[in-house]
Amino acid sequence: MIPKVDLPADARLDTLAVREGLPRTPWGENSEALFLSSSFVHPDAETAARRFSGEEEAFLYSRFSNPTVTMMERRLAALEGMEGCIGTSSGMSAILLLILGLLKAGDHVVCSQSVFGSTVKLFQDFARFGVETSFVAQTDVGQWRAAVRPQTKLLFAETPSNPLTEVCDIAALADVAHRAGALLAVDNCFCTPALQQPVKLGADLVIHSGTKYLDGQGRVIAGAVCASQEMIQTKLMPVLRGAGMSLSPFNAWVVLKGLETLAIRMQAQSARALELAHWLEAQPAIERVYHPGLASHPQHALAMAQQAGCGGPVVSFNVRGGRAGAFAVIDATRICSITSNLGDTKTTVTHPATTSHGKLSEAQRQAAGIAQGMIRLAMGLEHVEDIKADLLRGLSALP
Ligand SMILES: *Cc1c(COP(=O)(O)O)cnc(C)c1O
Repeated sequence: MIPKVDLPADARLDTLAVREGLPRTPWGENSEALFLSSSFVHPDAETAARRFSGEEEAFLYSRFSNPTVTMMERRLAALEGMEGCIGTSSGMSAILLLILGLLKAGDHVVCSQSVFGSTVKLFQDFARFGVETSFVAQTDVGQWRAAVRPQTKLLFAETPSNPLTEVCDIAALADVAHRAGALLAVDNCFCTPALQQPVKLGADLVIHSGTKYLDGQGRVIAGAVCASQEMIQTKLMPVLRGAGMSLSPFNAWVVLKGLETLAIRMQAQSARALELAHWLEAQPAIERVYHPGLASHPQHALAMAQQAGCGGPVVSFNVRGGRAGAFAVIDATRICSITSNLGDTKTTVTHPATTSHGKLSEAQRQAAGIAQGMIRLAMGLEHVEDIKADLLRGLSALP
């Protein structure tokens, strides 16, 4: 049996974020130990046999069990309010694990058309293996319902979406899924459990790219699937053991330590993003601002109810002058990092039309609402006045 940390049963989330994991080793370390060990040693051959047969729980081999990875998994599961979690090598491999674990040829998936671009590609690729996916409008529950077939096994959503911050109604989608005998998986990358716990709204599985806010400082690639213990033991763990999209202990340790500051980072970065969004709305060179915290956002009320009253750290906006205008504003920044990553304490800016959405045709981009003048900004922890000044340099020079 792998022991638990001795915490009061009613310990609150802020406490679990800092304390949940495994008990200290006999050395009494205060910061969690990093176990860089590919395998674990048994006292004798008889014990090894019991452990390999599953009769006795123990760490065996780091492709599927490692104490540092287990600490990260327990802590993230606690934050999501879920029974279990499996760490994976990336956010994408978390989704791959989900597909391999839950679906087979002949099954059907309904997925938002506004999910992360690589997620769309991954689901499309599985058509080769007989798993078909229908893509539907993020915010139109009627379209999700209409797309369901007798073979539908999974609904997959991500909210808010990137870069338009469109919010879908998790409780409504859970209802559509469950009436069809299907499961709802939510990619909770943009809100994290600090703002939104999809399981409380009826979701069955939660996906994470740990690369983003969970790490929070742009250091590692990591991912996770949170699910019930039963689903983990019977469907997901057997695939991880065989397919090996395992999270490295080092990356797990970085994410584990990131979780300790997750809630205060998310609140601080969201508050700065909202202030920036209000300021952007008042700028003459800005045509439109997208942030769920703004009253002008089409799903503002839903977002406030679903996301603990926070809009999240991502703000997108359209500047006058199309692509040239957007490039001028981006290139005039001296603080913001020009990179399409997000979830960092350093503010990042990107031009979706030529990066994350660059492979779409102009017609597809227009249908998706990605204008040439759009900039996506993921607010970090710099002083918001410095970020305003960084953007104003380019904005005030626009014709
Ligand atoms: C980045 C991202 C992913 C993929 O995660 P990786 O860690 O880069 O593999 C999945 N979903 C969302 C919403 C993301 O932003």
